[in-house]
Amino acid sequence: MPRAKSPPKKPAKPPTSLAQKLAQIGLRNEWDFALHLPIRYEDETRITRVRDALAGVDCQVEVEVFHTEVAYRPRRQLVVQARDGEDILHLRFLNFYGSQVKQMAAGKRLRLFGEVRQGYFGAEMVHPRYRVVAGDEPVPDALTPVYGTTAGVSQIAIRRVIDRALEALDGQSQFDDCVPTIVREQQRLQPFRESVFALHRPSPSASLTSLAERTHPAWRRIKFDELLSQQLAMKKARAARDAKSAPAMTSRHKITQAMIAALPFALTAAQRRAADEISADLAKTHPMQRLLQGDVGSGKTVVAALAAAQAVENGFQVALMAPTEILAEQHFRKLSDLLTPIGVTATWLTGSLKAKDKRAAVAAIAQGTTQLAIGTHALFQDGVTFANLGLAIIDEQHRFGVGQRLALREKASIVEEAHQLMMSATPIPRTLSMSYFADLDVSIIDELPPGRTPISTRILADDRRDELLERIRAACAAGGQAYWVCPLIEESEKLQLQTAVDTFERISTEFPDLRVGLVHGRMKPAEKNEVMQKFIANEIQLLVATTVIEVGVDVPNATIMVIEHAERMGLSQLHQLRGRVGRGAKQSACVLLYQSPLGALAKARLKVIYESTDGFEIARQDLLIRGPGEHLGARQSGAPLLRFADIQRDVDLLDAARDAATWMLQHDSSNADKHLARWLGSRQHYLKA
Ligand code: ADP
Ligand code: MG
Repeated sequence: MPRAKSPPKKPAKPPTSLAQKLAQIGLRNEWDFALHLPIRYEDETRITRVRDALAGVDCQVEVEVFHTEVAYRPRRQLVVQARDGEDILHLRFLNFYGSQVKQMAAGKRLRLFGEVRQGYFGAEMVHPRYRVVAGDEPVPDALTPVYGTTAGVSQIAIRRVIDRALEALDGQSQFDDCVPTIVREQQRLQPFRESVFALHRPSPSASLTSLAERTHPAWRRIKFDELLSQQLAMKKARAARDAKSAPAMTSRHKITQAMIAALPFALTAAQRRAADEISADLAKTHPMQRLLQGDVGSGKTVVAALAAAQAVENGFQVALMAPTEILAEQHFRKLSDLLTPIGVTATWLTGSLKAKDKRAAVAAIAQGTTQLAIGTHALFQDGVTFANLGLAIIDEQHRFGVGQRLALREKASIVEEAHQLMMSATPIPRTLSMSYFADLDVSIIDELPPGRTPISTRILADDRRDELLERIRAACAAGGQAYWVCPLIEESEKLQLQTAVDTFERISTEFPDLRVGLVHGRMKPAEKNEVMQKFIANEIQLLVATTVIEVGVDVPNATIMVIEHAERMGLSQLHQLRGRVGRGAKQSACVLLYQSPLGALAKARLKVIYESTDGFEIARQDLLIRGPGEHLGARQSGAPLLRFADIQRDVDLLDAARDAATWMLQHDSSNADKHLARWLGSRQHYLKA
């Protein structure tokens, strides 16, 4: 399982000692080791006869070596022949040390673990795990745990440190249960000590399946504890922020009313509700921590603008940060359109500004002559100080990496004292968001503005491109515009760039009569902006793009979205891309091109996009098909990655953990602290993001 990266460090020397290597994977103190639970188990409690070994199944066999040689066939390799009764087993090792040749010399008895296959010479094992045994050494009486480890730390070594930590903690009777008895009884949770030991050293009778699938009662207990630690941490962080003070910005209605009056449309009920929730938060004397969730196109920008207006009419500055320059630029335009006519001054600050312009922007922010600062994370870099920041708005918050958000927190202590509004179009099913974001309040815009013509979605095999080309030509001739999204190449940025350029060239030849543009992630921000401006002005009719346009881009005249190799993209990503069209009154279409043949899973996924336009429903289906994975991991919430629990599958435990956390913080804070120290002692820094 991937772990959250440590915050950026000075270029470090490569780790040398065992302790340093283990620290690199987050294992520092005894509790880190005790809670570093096996990723899987191997059954070495039985010895299988070579002739009984099943294809595709790992097993343990015991053999006696009768011949060993270093052969060249054609690569240098260690070839060992051994006997199990009448059966002969061949072993091959492609990478080996000289010492291994001696270890496996003729006459030695070996226990081997791995898969026995039928090779050219008969039964064979390639690179099995092996151990030299003397005489009739008994087999272990418990399943063998396999731990996540790092280069240069063997299973045996990590097992030894973990065992030592378990003994040390146990010797000092440190395994007392911090979870209150009533919670344990209610949830029928196994005791803590018993659970930890059961997972590190499962009894011979333990079911390998329930251990592997993490349904064993010991896993249930550990998952609960993990979720509890996360809930406790988030609630504590929240309480700490609530204890801080922030300016109370009451709704004076001056600017907000003027803004609403000037809107060309009426707010939807959902927008009004969200705006009211935010407005009430801003009027409080402690910092708002609110997440505004709304599907693509649900109209979050106006709601953010209303919040900004309320801050400004109370005499405070507002910062709006977006993850990309394209998006920041677009926000600048939109918010300026909404707010400058009613007397709000706005400044734009990104890393790519010319030095002179940057100085001017920084000065305006510092002197308070600008009320609204919009930009990328450059807004919160060293050297930028706000005269009186009252509200920070962070768009597409999940797009900022944990590291970036950490840096932001560290640098911008000022933000701590300001209200914070986060916005996200990546929907998290409602049932989960309340439990999961224990440290945030959530407002949800769950309706789209009226009068939208539904987007028609088509799934088209790549070999029917010609029909599609005709359609695009006709639409552009009639004054429309289209996006053409390049295939996603996740493995390599260089390949991605090449693909974008190739696609652009191909499309340009296919449409000699159209004005075709290209935008991709490696372009300089200024170039990107120029292309986007041309697209907005309809000087570009067909925009070839990578997924950089996935978030936020708003060009209502564009009515066709073509996505190549749609089967490679995530569902939420497809949904976001599709949301770039259907923004005006005209009928829009989204065409998902796929490369046949399409596998069953890919088919099921595209069907979800075809059948639903509701981001929340799509997210739910995505979770069902694919499992939450990173979707709800560190990237979303800034909370530490869960190693054992699975938010979707263990939702009952999540709810129970949330309630237990509330109870413990009120009635049993010493056990709450103890629990946190065990689980997060050496990882506390992830929590601040
Ligand atoms: P998102 O939630 O994806 O950020 P935007 O704020 O960009 O959505 O809004 C999408 C489009 O809908 C914009 O063109 C915006 O002007 C328009 N819009 C927002 N609210 C309404 C409304 N209540 N009625 C009609 N159109 C609206
Ligand atoms: Mg938006």
